[in-house]
Amino acid sequence: MEARLVCFDQACRATYDITEVLYSCPRCGGLLEVDYQDWDFDPAVMKRLWRERRMNETPLDQSGVWRYRELIPFLNDYRHVVTLREGNTPLLESARAAAYAGLKTISFKHQGFNPTGSFKDNGMTCGVAQALRLGMRRVACVSTGNTSASMTAYASAAGLQPIIFVPHGNIAFGKLAQALEYGALTLQVEANFDEILALVRKLAERLGIYLLNSINPFRVEGQKTIAVELMDQRDWRVPDWVVLPGGNLGNTAALGKGFREMRALGLIDRLPRLAVIQAEGAAPFYEFAQRRGRGEFCPVRNPETLATAIRIGAPVSWPKAWYEVTQSNGVVEKVSEEEIADAKAQIGRAGIGCEPASAATLAGIRKLVARGVIDREAEVVAILTGNLLKDPDYIYRYHTGQLVTPSGRRVAGQFANRPIVVPNDPDRIAEVLACGV
Ligand SMILES: *Cc1c(COP(=O)(O)O)cnc(C)c1O
Ligand SMILES: [Zn+2]
Repeated sequence: MEARLVCFDQACRATYDITEVLYSCPRCGGLLEVDYQDWDFDPAVMKRLWRERRMNETPLDQSGVWRYRELIPFLNDYRHVVTLREGNTPLLESARAAAYAGLKTISFKHQGFNPTGSFKDNGMTCGVAQALRLGMRRVACVSTGNTSASMTAYASAAGLQPIIFVPHGNIAFGKLAQALEYGALTLQVEANFDEILALVRKLAERLGIYLLNSINPFRVEGQKTIAVELMDQRDWRVPDWVVLPGGNLGNTAALGKGFREMRALGLIDRLPRLAVIQAEGAAPFYEFAQRRGRGEFCPVRNPETLATAIRIGAPVSWPKAWYEVTQSNGVVEKVSEEEIADAKAQIGRAGIGCEPASAATLAGIRKLVARGVIDREAEVVAILTGNLLKDPDYIYRYHTGQLVTPSGRRVAGQFANRPIVVPNDPDRIAEVLACGV
């Protein structure tokens, strides 16, 4: 078995050594992916082994990513691995959310249970392992969100220096707070996201800093295991649909690759259909899908959504994501700010909770069921990408009628749950409680 980097561009397919420090194809500029040759194993033996590893106390086996290391065999030495016990996230069913979506049943694969509260951890443990293997001392990313939080945690745990570049004055507060606490050297640059990305790519080369942005192919390998753990939890019964929010589309690329590889290796017998949900104000992939992939991919110049994790106008991984959507006979949908906010409140009321971007899944499913694209009886798994506590400000505003969309509309909040101010008077409080039930 041998791992190598391959250009994703089907016309190029240039190959590179797995230890080359590359973020895109030097020949054509295309995205890179990790590819394995002579890769073969007995599916039944592997399924048993992965189950047995759950009982082990070794860090590698306790990780919900590295437990499945036969499916991400790009390292030659597992001493490079730093794990915070990422993955191991629950698959949660909810009758309430199913009813809201118009489905018989629904389950949520909740990546918000990760160590830093988002699915970025699944990928970051792999990205940082590769950085260590390459002998890097410093790692960097451009992000105001979950990527910074995750990269910083893993880099610090590994003894590497984490450097994050954020647009000055445009900061997601809770997530930046995590990065500061985990020890990021934080540079606020007076430029927009795209300008900073270009700057950082130049600096990375000059200063020998390893970039852990979302096109890093090793992060994709780790995120693949979300699909694997999901199948393991379902005893390898393939759901009809897997639904996820689409921002930079790295996760769509990763899950799609995961399912395809599992099918090729005989772990599953078919692919689930992927449904990618975007926010209305940041939906270039939706528009591209509406044209069935014909013509240019047109970025959105000023992407706007309160779901900041998917507020992306020029998603870098769109070619991979489009490939996965077509391979799985998938669909792309978009939802409004109100739909996201109300779906999020329903996920909360189910006792589950998630961050805004994650709730785009339930909002999208509801729409797709109503349109007859997803069958009422279908088995649907939604990927909840981030933890409820990532964005408490949004939640408080929603429940107190103060949530305003980027275009200035006040969100009515169908499921708003306002706190009630009461006097210090047992009779009055008894009255309020009597009315409340
Ligand atoms: C990063 C992120 C997304 C978007 O994922 P992509 O891979 O960029 O499409 C969605 N939700 C949360 C919580 C995230 O952190
Ligand atoms: Zn190429």
